[in-house]
Amino acid sequence: MFQAKGLSKTYHVKNGEDVHALKNVDLTFGDTGMVFILGKSGSGKSTLLHLLGGLDRPSAGEIVLDGVSSAGFKDGDWDKYRNQSVGFVFQEYNLLPEFSVRDNIGIALELQKKKTDAAVIDAVLQKVELKGMENRKPAELSGGQRQRVAIARALVKDPKIVFADEPTGALDEETGRSILALLKTLSQEKLVIVVTHDRDFAAAYGDRIIELSDGAVVGDEVLPPQEVVQE
Ligand code: ADP
Ligand code: MG
Repeated sequence: MFQAKGLSKTYHVKNGEDVHALKNVDLTFGDTGMVFILGKSGSGKSTLLHLLGGLDRPSAGEIVLDGVSSAGFKDGDWDKYRNQSVGFVFQEYNLLPEFSVRDNIGIALELQKKKTDAAVIDAVLQKVELKGMENRKPAELSGGQRQRVAIARALVKDPKIVFADEPTGALDEETGRSILALLKTLSQEKLVIVVTHDRDFAAAYGDRIIELSDGAVVGDEVLPPQEVVQE
């Protein structure tokens, strides 16, 4: 189980008013499933995802993963949480352009001080359907393939939770759907939390839709099970 308890974030802006980007958010997630966080631009979606994923620290509140609270986390605990418990996928892929597909994925293991195990990387490449592409550089891949590399990089750490911030934002609709279908498949084994502003995608692929407005949760709906057509 994964929880946000009283999670708040205030940004202090130089020569400006404080921005209360997230206000006292309480959420409880199961161990698996595809959860969408929906909301307009500026509603606090990325802020929430960054706090849940340990990329940024809350101004107040805590996250609790399997009974372990972030309340007493030191810097090293946050690093460990980020490196071991969660994986991130971003809209712009954030791949290293000079490195091959294999090395982009291997770096995630090295950051964990694990040996780059070719068999582990091969298995992840298989999962994201990128076998045969391991020696290419990001520039030699399509947008959808790059996002699959980013997903593979998140997965190779075998995290409990995969976070994706607008993962289809830079892709055409059909490619976006194939990425969401892949994340949906992964969500049978892991908790997958996806930020989007696309209500149709959320309704088509989500098990649950949490809606944010002005930094607060204004909707939280569990959707009936559905059959996703695999492309
Ligand atoms: P979303 O992802 O839903 O578009 P964000 O979480 O990025 O929204 O932003 C929520 C609010 O916080 C916005 O008003 C945004 O301008 C503000 N914000 C985000 N990051 C910062 C920052 N580093 N400094 C100041 N304000 C920020
Ligand atoms: Mg955002």
